[in-house]
Amino acid sequence: MAETGIKPGLMQYLFNNHIGNIIMSLLSIDTNAKTSKNTQFGYLTGILYLAPADLSGVNYCPMAELAGCKEACLNTAGRGVFNNVQEARLNRSKLFNTDKNAFMRQLVDEIGALSRKAKKLGIKAAVRLNGTSDIQWEKIKFKWFNKDQTIFDIFPNVQFYDYTKIPNRSNLPNNYDLTFSYSGATGFDKYNQRAINNGVRIAAVFDKPENIPVTFHKRKVFDGDKHDLTFLNPKNAVLGLYAKGKARKDTSGFVIQGGLN
Ligand code: SF4
Repeated sequence: MAETGIKPGLMQYLFNNHIGNIIMSLLSIDTNAKTSKNTQFGYLTGILYLAPADLSGVNYCPMAELAGCKEACLNTAGRGVFNNVQEARLNRSKLFNTDKNAFMRQLVDEIGALSRKAKKLGIKAAVRLNGTSDIQWEKIKFKWFNKDQTIFDIFPNVQFYDYTKIPNRSNLPNNYDLTFSYSGATGFDKYNQRAINNGVRIAAVFDKPENIPVTFHKRKVFDGDKHDLTFLNPKNAVLGLYAKGKARKDTSGFVIQGGLN
């Protein structure tokens, strides 16, 4: 099977669900401007983009309402403006919602292929599973060689990483790094504060590049748009990002206006 090929289970699913001609692989490899910068830093990156929040009928983003990020979601940034991209995200989500085992098996195949490709290139593999979702993957187990395992168990040498708005994710595997995603929305501050108090790395979105401050909540701000390899930054860093897609028009408070919060 070619690395972007369709598994028989997936093909059957697409056929049964009349999903038409949008045939997809699960991982996008170096397709966004930021992850393509990752290769310069020694990582080949695969990102899984699903339909965020409750767009697929299942809510993948339990904090989205509180954080006010649903409207401003990165789902609409970059290639996300195209209908076929949105349709592919929805189709992946439908497969995840209806046949988790088939989905996870396909994911294992694709991460295996990514790892082999990275090895050939002499670089490392990195995977971000929550490109446009906030799923607690550390809790998702599936049968693999007669054992219930997480995706992290199967690829101990792959660096996984994500942004999250869930402040209390714990017992993370060694190869899964999280960065808490700050929101300036009213009522979200207690979650921001919890992450800050716990010494978790934070990413904050500012309205314009020129409004990204030097320090934020007494922590040094690093350029979060330089590359996407969050785990290369110190744990107590703030990663400053600027608003993209619909986030540029955000009024929910998720995007920090004028560099102050
Ligand atoms: S910004 Fe993150 S948490 Fe918010 S809706 Fe989008 S994917 Fe979900």
